[in-house]
Amino acid sequence: MNKILAINSGSSSFKYKLFSIPDETVIAEGLGDRIGISGSTFDIKLSDGTKHQEKVALPDQETAVKLLLNWLIKYHCISDLKEIVGVGHRIVNGGEIFPDSALIDKNNLHKIFDLTDYAPLHNPAEGRGIKAFMKLLPGVPQVGVFDTSFHQSLDPVHYLYSVPYEYYDKYKARKYGAHGTSVRYVASRTAELLNRPLKELKLIVCHLGSGASITAVKDGKSFDTSMGFSPLAGITMGTRSGDVDPSLLQFVMKKENITDFDQMIDILNHKSGLLGISGISSDMRDIEDRDDKRSQLAIKIFINRVVRYVGSYLAEMQGADAIVFTAGIGENSADVRAKVMSSLSFIGLKPDLKANQSRGEKIISTPDSKVKALIVPTDEELMIERDVVRLAHLN
Ligand code: AMP
Repeated sequence: MNKILAINSGSSSFKYKLFSIPDETVIAEGLGDRIGISGSTFDIKLSDGTKHQEKVALPDQETAVKLLLNWLIKYHCISDLKEIVGVGHRIVNGGEIFPDSALIDKNNLHKIFDLTDYAPLHNPAEGRGIKAFMKLLPGVPQVGVFDTSFHQSLDPVHYLYSVPYEYYDKYKARKYGAHGTSVRYVASRTAELLNRPLKELKLIVCHLGSGASITAVKDGKSFDTSMGFSPLAGITMGTRSGDVDPSLLQFVMKKENITDFDQMIDILNHKSGLLGISGISSDMRDIEDRDDKRSQLAIKIFINRVVRYVGSYLAEMQGADAIVFTAGIGENSADVRAKVMSSLSFIGLKPDLKANQSRGEKIISTPDSKVKALIVPTDEELMIERDVVRLAHLN
């Protein structure tokens, strides 16, 4: 049977899922972690639930890919490498060059590296991953699935910053957004669950994970989104600040004797958000049950920023048909969902609090609710698999 690999890379790790097609069954999944750093590990979870993990040296992407292919054979996920007929790769930034997922070959691979300035940690690692697969699986189609593509439908009114226009002209300095693959999946699944054509719906998708964003979807396209030039902008996240006034940074840098702007950006990326406010943890689970003031304040600020963005998108789209929750917090925290929904009663959203208490894909508003609310667990890897099938003509 033919198989497709979906690769979701971080700067020093990659998550993978092996699908069989056309039935889209997940045969194996796992993680190569700490690539290029000491203490690297590799693991695999098989469809029968068994798991294997090993500490192995993973000096580079190619070693990790080699190990993955060996393990897929060793654990009988495939009997021959020829069974892998396509590989899809999540890429953080596709700039204005990639308004859709695309086949990547030797002639256009450089474009992913050319976009390094727009995602300095991710694009080069992801490019190296594709290169390794091209070498080890020659002739197998490689597909880039860009987190920014879905947001290429934004109007300049939404993607331009109010700064001198020449920065956009010269450097393409603009909003790109992120989480596009997740939102694309969640929006289309929501339309199926509501039994209505996606093109007729106005949706607000709340992707609330350790990275978090809000996206307004109109006419089946991204209309506006809370992340910006980078994934640092928008709502409060696990360790990221979301929106701040740039003058605050100048002030803090002076007070704290920080002379390197990269260091300040690092603080906004890694020491802010829920972690920065609570002083305890970036993980919602760690702070949800604590009654200390700063943990409670962190959650209140998180919810406020979600509601603030939802409110602005309600105004921009002149209403919405549904508010959709996804990702780690959105799928698992009944409390966060309940608080967000209760702030939206003014638009006619009536939560079904009993349905909201349990996990899994479902409608969590009452049948007479004017605006619907849903939980839709995201599945970026499935979207990647489908894009490989579509672009490599495997159906
Ligand atoms: P993600 O980035 O989508 O994997 O989401 C990760 C985040 O989801 C974690 O950092 C937690 O804050 C949150 N999360 C996961 N499970 C729960 C839970 N049961 N309750 C509250 N938050 C959760």
